[in-house]
Amino acid sequence: MTAVGHMRPIGIFGGTFDPIHYGHLRTALEVEQILGLARVHFVPSANPPHRGAPMTSGKLRLKLVKAAIRGEPSFVADDREIERTGPSYTVDTLASFREEFPRRSLCLLLGMDAFLGLATWYRWRELLTLAHLVVAHRPGWRAPSTGTLGKLLKERRTADSRDLRRAPAGAMYVHPVTQLEISSTDLRAALVAGLDPKFLMPDSVRKIILKTECYAENP
Ligand code: ATP
Repeated sequence: MTAVGHMRPIGIFGGTFDPIHYGHLRTALEVEQILGLARVHFVPSANPPHRGAPMTSGKLRLKLVKAAIRGEPSFVADDREIERTGPSYTVDTLASFREEFPRRSLCLLLGMDAFLGLATWYRWRELLTLAHLVVAHRPGWRAPSTGTLGKLLKERRTADSRDLRRAPAGAMYVHPVTQLEISSTDLRAALVAGLDPKFLMPDSVRKIILKTECYAENP
């Protein structure tokens, strides 16, 4: 079997993606390039446990992800959470990746806002036994220096991205990405108000949204 260090890590980017936008895509690309990831799996959440129900179905959000990444060979639209029943716990998703890739380095990508809520996630301490955590800076959010997550960062953070290849899981890496202040919440509000999301998302995604009127208030 190939040693861990010789295989490029696999990136796992979970989210509601309701809808996917350039903030997600650019973050995934920059992290992929800086870490030399083999690929990035976009994993839309079916039933996100930490927030209200998405405005659109998992199937539709997966379709939007597929449209967004078309032509990008290292991006994968991953339906494992959509196909699972019950709450979409990240720990279960990582366990399923780990089963598929027993020795491979796995990197879970998170925006800083998502990371700050980590300690409320189901069985969150197990996440680092299954994958590395790669945290992307988002506009307006700071890395914690105190509390549970501040302590975790102090213990696990590395500035050397090669550490993410030396072991299959367990390290944390914080990486600033180009600050694109785009959020799905703002996009949904704009779409409900009948505004055009042009230039905030790929046109392939925009066209499906406008055609299906999936974000109209009373479709
Ligand atoms: P919402 O506004 O509905 O909460 P969102 O735009 O934050 O959505 P999510 O699907 O919740 O998108 O996010 C998935 C992941 O992408 C999270 O880890 C989040 O931190 C990250 N992310 C979202 N938007 C950006 C952005 N503009 N730049 C960098 N990371 C982002």
